[in-house]
Amino acid sequence: MTLSASEHIIDQPMKDIFGHEGALARFMPEFEPRQGQLQMAEAVSQALIDGSRLAVEAGTGIGKTLAYLAPAIQSGQKVVISTGTLNLQDQILHKEIPFIQRYIAPRLVALCVKGRQNYLCLYRWNQLMTAPQLPIFGDSDEINRISAWLDTTDTGDRAELTWLPDNSPLWREISSSTTQCLGMHCPQNHSCFITRLRKKAARAQLLIVNHPLFFSDLAIRRHGHAEVLPRYESVIFDEAHHIENIATRYFGISFSHYQVLDLVKDVEKTAAADLSKKDRNKIVQPARALAKEIDLFAQLFPKERGRYQLAEVIKEISPWETELDRLLGALQGLSTELELISKTREAWGPLLRRSTDLEDSLLLTTREQNSSFVYWVERREKTISLTASPIEVAGELQHFYQDVHSAIFASATLTTGSDFRYFLDRLGLGAETATLPIQAPFDYAGRTLLYVPDNRFPLPNHPDYPRESHQQIFDIIGASNGRALLLFTSLNSMRNCHAALKDKLDYPLLMQGDAPKSVLLERFQKDTHSVLLAVASFWEGVDVPGESLSAVIIDKLPFEVPTDPVIMARVNRIREEGGNPFFDFQVPRAILTLRQGIGRLIRTASDQGLLAIMDVRLFTKSYGRLFMKSLPPSPVVRSMQDVRSFLDNLKDDTQTTFNKD
Ligand code: SF4
Repeated sequence: MTLSASEHIIDQPMKDIFGHEGALARFMPEFEPRQGQLQMAEAVSQALIDGSRLAVEAGTGIGKTLAYLAPAIQSGQKVVISTGTLNLQDQILHKEIPFIQRYIAPRLVALCVKGRQNYLCLYRWNQLMTAPQLPIFGDSDEINRISAWLDTTDTGDRAELTWLPDNSPLWREISSSTTQCLGMHCPQNHSCFITRLRKKAARAQLLIVNHPLFFSDLAIRRHGHAEVLPRYESVIFDEAHHIENIATRYFGISFSHYQVLDLVKDVEKTAAADLSKKDRNKIVQPARALAKEIDLFAQLFPKERGRYQLAEVIKEISPWETELDRLLGALQGLSTELELISKTREAWGPLLRRSTDLEDSLLLTTREQNSSFVYWVERREKTISLTASPIEVAGELQHFYQDVHSAIFASATLTTGSDFRYFLDRLGLGAETATLPIQAPFDYAGRTLLYVPDNRFPLPNHPDYPRESHQQIFDIIGASNGRALLLFTSLNSMRNCHAALKDKLDYPLLMQGDAPKSVLLERFQKDTHSVLLAVASFWEGVDVPGESLSAVIIDKLPFEVPTDPVIMARVNRIREEGGNPFFDFQVPRAILTLRQGIGRLIRTASDQGLLAIMDVRLFTKSYGRLFMKSLPPSPVVRSMQDVRSFLDNLKDDTQTTFNKD
């Protein structure tokens, strides 16, 4: 049944929408009422009414998205829904919102807002169309297709250009960016896609964004500038366990080799389009001098990719101040020329702003004046960057909490040992924050098994560990007929295991890095007996229900090696404040990562399978108990014989259950 615009299901109490006798159960035979979903919807509704903070841990399968969307709409407030990934943002837009418009709130106006770089900038496009270096950035076919698209698109959103490669050089030249936008002075302002998006956003009740956009908007807003998002009343964060990392990135300051070269390139481009040959040299010369200086400056830093503490690196650079002054001098030289030219020619204003902003960020990322920040350098393949990151984001977030009516945090993994304290502390959420844990509605006890080798198995740092763990992994994969996801804590461990298995196994072996994530996951899903080896990003966001994923094997407890400068600074800060960084920070982080990893196994009520963690510290170390307390209630076994019987039963009967007794 579809609702007419005059029906007001959304005005009813949550139990009349989600309950057993509720509207959804009456209208849709396939809707399965879940107590946890109703409980969450009621708690979110109350928090929105009270203007309070709420953290909800909602296990997979309770239908948490609908449980926050319905009360958000009912509140009548302007609410931002912020997700951790573009995938979830798209899923809400294409699945949940149409569902709500059909069954719950036909008049809902919701809008998906992405970062600026996703939208075409008409000013840059027109500039490029008149610039002589056009062929450098794209072939004529791409240009023609975009030209034709511009006659029809209402949004300017690159997602509509499904044929455009992810790293398209052409798109980089024509997409919108804060630093290059002329704002009110832009001749295209009246037809600009960003201006139109802002107007639509002002009219929508729900804005669906992602955390990077939300926090970049918040950071820009704090400096008094306007970004894409209009004023909002409340915010609901999904995948809220990502907030600390993302807020750290956007509340920090960065200066990069790439930003400088990008500015130089734009100066040359604007000069070619806007100045006579005679006048060009005046501005192109200091720009090229700057390009030389930044290349020399980049060579001062370690060659190996990685992140380093700035203080340690500059000890090796002599004399550091002289090198810094040379680069600063070259930037100031360019700024001086840009200032002169922008007095008479409007197009140069944004370039001047970028140049002076780079001067500021170079100073702010190298002078180490603020003890609340950690200063570090990153060497990547083609660029180096200098960054100042806040050691804690808890303090930075207090302004946001004061400004917003309600803030709601949802995720499948917020607690450690059923306790929200770690999450609340990291985000500076006070004791008044309401918390609600809701278990996944799955029969873990009946449909899963947790295997940890017995205590004779070597510890992860023992020389025999790789050989013995590879042997056991081989045995488990044999018993599960492939169908296994192997999650590793380092690239080295993954590659070594791949090398040990590849000539012995009869099942297709897929490894992260051999193809894009989406391609690997599609192959893994389609080829039921395949085995997938992965690190990092595969610990979450892998959603493969059904038989293809019947075993999740984890090599070690996922403790981070505390060499990352931001992690190190956090560890030191906790120690200075009298805390215990291992128990207050490193263990909870590892527990949350482990919970994400094992959460890959059971995605629907009919899933079943084996969890194997090849790390006996779960039983031999005191902190092991904290990990065990945080895992789902699966029966635990320590012998391979039990693993084989369990997996044999799975083969015989996909509906079978295991009871270790
Ligand atoms: S206002 Fe900014 S984003 Fe819009 S067309 Fe002009 S320069 Fe581009």
